[in-house]
Amino acid sequence: MERRTFLRNAGAGLAAGALAAPAIVHAQAPQIKWRLASSFPKSLDTLFGATETLVRRVAAATNGRFQIQLFAAGEIVPGFQVLDAVKEGTVEMGHSASYYFVGKDPTFAFDCAVPFGLNSRQQSAWMYEGGGLELMREFFRDYNIYNIPCGNTGTQMGGWFRKEIKTLADLKGLKMRIAGFAGEVMAKLGAVPQQLPGADVYPALEKGTIDAAEWVGPYDDEKLGFNKVAKYYYYPAWWEGGPQVSLYINQKHWDSLPKDYQNILEAAAAEAHVVMQARYDAKNPAALKRLVASGTQLRPFSREIMAAAYKTTFEIYEETAAKNPRFRKVYEHWKKFREDQNLWFRVAENAYDNFVFSAGQHR
Ligand code: CA
Repeated sequence: MERRTFLRNAGAGLAAGALAAPAIVHAQAPQIKWRLASSFPKSLDTLFGATETLVRRVAAATNGRFQIQLFAAGEIVPGFQVLDAVKEGTVEMGHSASYYFVGKDPTFAFDCAVPFGLNSRQQSAWMYEGGGLELMREFFRDYNIYNIPCGNTGTQMGGWFRKEIKTLADLKGLKMRIAGFAGEVMAKLGAVPQQLPGADVYPALEKGTIDAAEWVGPYDDEKLGFNKVAKYYYYPAWWEGGPQVSLYINQKHWDSLPKDYQNILEAAAAEAHVVMQARYDAKNPAALKRLVASGTQLRPFSREIMAAAYKTTFEIYEETAAKNPRFRKVYEHWKKFREDQNLWFRVAENAYDNFVFSAGQHR
């Protein structure tokens, strides 16, 4: 009040501008406290760790003015209800894997992973530079959510099997913990997909209530001890070539956020996105060596199984696209982008990877 009166009385433009500047800076840097509900447990220092990277950077870049409090799955919101909680504004933001929500609409999966989809590099290319993010934001707007990519696991492992799976016949009646589109594909191939929360997977596999379970990859899987209850570790997860995880921000809260904080949040998410992939790539090799040393038997899925799964997958996409216009819109764009990506990746990347990854064996 006093200052305003003074400024009005002062009248001079220059003096008023100089004096008003601190007041403007103050108005643009408010103290903000948000809550972030994660779909992941603290024990997953890779997935949950992405949000730790994020909130540390946001706090540091705003001199502690923008604080985001992290909550692991189940602390304030159950893991699978993160989307609803952000949509309703129960929490300002969340961190989740969008394919958890394919029951609401299968289109969600494109924000994370679909069988025989993009690898992590290609997913980032589609999101940041290929028009995928715009499409997914348009889709998420109906859920009152502003989404930002925030992490990728890279290609996952196919999971733990109590018995060897060599042919399609071996899949008949196989009870496997696997969800979403992959579960649908497995069902069409004769398996019996099971939906189990993370904590229930180990006991079910141990008791033999299920025959197989997919989780993430060596580093995360080792912590859960799956190698103690299933001997065969299959690869790759053809349903998760490069699963992306995302930040969900309630649209109203996003709109009310000062522009500089919006920018800081986007930049911190991009950083967390890169760091999470780096952590997986850095930690997986040692974990894989330890698993193999403990007696784990590595097995690739057979060509027969991969080819049948591939064919079935695209039949399901076409069926889904025929009855869901939202899915069709994203799918058609994604499919074209994917074809071009694979055309390019099979030239330089594939030749380089194929040679270098086995070069040690040729010396
Ligand atoms: Ca998985």
